[in-house]
Amino acid sequence: MKNHVALLKQLPAIDRLLQHSALAHSTAPHCLIVEAAQETVDHCRRSILDAKAEQTVCVDLDTLAGQAATRLTEKLRASLCRVINATGTLLHTNLGRAPLSDEALDNIDQVARGYSNLELNLTTGKRGHRYSHIDELLCRLTGAEAAAVVNNNAGAVLLSLTALAKGKEAIVSRGELVEIGGAFRVPDVMEASGVQLCEIGTTNKTHLKDYRQAINENTGLLLKVHTSNYRIVGFTESVSAAQMVDLGKEHKIPVMEDLGSGMLFDLSEFGLPREPTVREAVDAGIDLLTFSGDKLLGGPQAGLIVGKKWAIDKIRNHPLARALRIDKLTLAALETTLSHYLDRQQAIDKVPVLRMLNMKAEDLKQRSEGFTAQLSKRLADTARVELIEEPSCVGGGALPTTELAGWAVALTLPAASVDQCATTLRQAEIPVVARIQEDRLIINLRTVLPAQETLLLDALTAACGPKN
Ligand SMILES: *Cc1c(COP(=O)(O)O)cnc(C)c1O
Repeated sequence: MKNHVALLKQLPAIDRLLQHSALAHSTAPHCLIVEAAQETVDHCRRSILDAKAEQTVCVDLDTLAGQAATRLTEKLRASLCRVINATGTLLHTNLGRAPLSDEALDNIDQVARGYSNLELNLTTGKRGHRYSHIDELLCRLTGAEAAAVVNNNAGAVLLSLTALAKGKEAIVSRGELVEIGGAFRVPDVMEASGVQLCEIGTTNKTHLKDYRQAINENTGLLLKVHTSNYRIVGFTESVSAAQMVDLGKEHKIPVMEDLGSGMLFDLSEFGLPREPTVREAVDAGIDLLTFSGDKLLGGPQAGLIVGKKWAIDKIRNHPLARALRIDKLTLAALETTLSHYLDRQQAIDKVPVLRMLNMKAEDLKQRSEGFTAQLSKRLADTARVELIEEPSCVGGGALPTTELAGWAVALTLPAASVDQCATTLRQAEIPVVARIQEDRLIINLRTVLPAQETLLLDALTAACGPKN
């Protein structure tokens, strides 16, 4: 309270701040520099007015210019930025799902830096089609007759339902009325597609006769939805794709399956439960199949659609296809990602998600041990760092009941708040996202790319180390 008026008078003019060396040489847009200076002075003015008698507020020019420069740096920071995923969850929708392979990134760079043959046939010089870059690959990898690709799997489902069954009924088992998160619920997507939901069976059991009994003259589709993010266990029964296809043929009704995270090869050799592969669904005779590009496939966000030529033609020619179309950067990444799958070993070596999925517990333990040793040295005075056994999950609505055995690094902070530390980590220059468990900070290296380890060490040291 003592000398408000005197202090307020000492506040520097905005112009003086702008001329200070901390701001004068900035190449930032002028409007942002001015804004940072104004906000700094405003903040200081409020502090003076709010200050208690014993508090002093610094109105020194150098200090304020420094604060304005910090504000400016924050303003210049891109909103969307890379983060280090130390959660161990491979496919985190909030963290952008699958990281891409180096080759996929190179291809994006090549295609995006200049012009491309996105819709030009280089042989004929005539108009080409954007699907032409991936349809042969997708057919080769899945055995399907034809393929198309759109913005994401939700879009693929919406488009497929609309193109195949608008104005008609689609029969779905009650046990497969999935909610994926966000606003993707099978009944809602159906309504948005103008398709009437005909729900059959019970939550745990649906029989072939349930489908048969529900078929009427207005039935336009038999739909199967992969229960990608939950499992119904115990006394259960569902109808196989092949049985649905036979029934569909009998009544001349197409059959569609939303595979969710469709896999191109069997993951059981990684010690994971068997998931139906896209090829198996194609072989079963399903007319139209949809799956995500950025779940277990490990590519960019995309909705892949494969199936019978007649069905894919309907998809390609539908007006919604244009509204949901995939862009060239995604297409570039998708083509390269799919090409890795031509060779199984190459896919495992190059696609980051598969590499992380295939990481052996023993290797993860060794890596975590090395990290623990380095971190303990750096945080000797502030934290207890230990190696713990800790499984990770796949996430992204895939393999919900699967835990990947592994190891992690646990930090206990006797004199500091773990929540505060996690917050500081999220606000680091390269933000780090980690989990908190029983008052410990858990760092799972499975999802930390090897090139990020040093950055992670630095970020942890800054956030959890001694404060000066
Ligand atoms: C994830 C998922 C979707 C949505 O896919 P996006 O690519 O996220 O749009 C749809 N259906 C199922 C069964 C899924 O698992």
